[in-house]
Amino acid sequence: MREPLAPVGIFGGTFDPIHNAHLCLVEEAHRVLGLDHVVLVPAGNPQHRDRPVISAERRLAMVRLAVAGKSWMQIDDGEIRNTSASYTVPTLLRLRQAYGAERPLVLLLGSDAFGGLASWQRWQELFGLAHIAVATRPGHTLETGLLSPALRNEYEQRVRQDPCSLTTAPAGFILPFIMPPMETSATAIRAALGRSEKPADMLPAAVLEYIARNQLYQSVP
Ligand code: ATP
Repeated sequence: MREPLAPVGIFGGTFDPIHNAHLCLVEEAHRVLGLDHVVLVPAGNPQHRDRPVISAERRLAMVRLAVAGKSWMQIDDGEIRNTSASYTVPTLLRLRQAYGAERPLVLLLGSDAFGGLASWQRWQELFGLAHIAVATRPGHTLETGLLSPALRNEYEQRVRQDPCSLTTAPAGFILPFIMPPMETSATAIRAALGRSEKPADMLPAAVLEYIARNQLYQSVP
């Protein structure tokens, strides 16, 4: 019998800037879910939130610095190269084509992002393209009572607790996983930088140096 294909993680974000909680989520997902590698996808022109504060090229440059030396963390710059609106379904369609129909793909989300999933364009198509693994985020527990009825329905049918289930199908399950609680957010980092503070415990040193060198986030809108 053929060995099951190890799942591949996909982690999208505005990364404005990338920070330690993003990296912790990716590390935990890699370890707990047995992912072969994780592809980070910086959003070019995200639609369901405020516009990023700095350019896509600079956000991408910081993601490159954050993953340097970790060969199991890869970057997909497809959304950044494409200047039109960024949506997750077309990105997953493109990655599904690259990885083939059989390979389990796992979209990684924080619980706040998962809670808003039903507002994403063509969200129900996501389940045909990838599994979804949801990391706990402080203040955003995965209480199904708080999900919209349509999302709760999908959750109840698709939820699995055992990471091994990810290798039994290429897509379609929802898997909650626990990451150490971290209050870090890009919003808090931008606010600290706007007050001329150095939030050194919230992001990798190389990213903080890049921000300082390029004088980014000095005035927060
Ligand atoms: P912002 O503060 O600008 O909204 P953010 O810190 O939430 O940004 P994003 O780039 O919007 O970062 O998030 C990308 C993904 O990372 C989302 O799925 C989000 O839920 C997750 N995430 C971000 N911060 C945390 C955290 N502290 N704990 C768990 N997940 C997180």
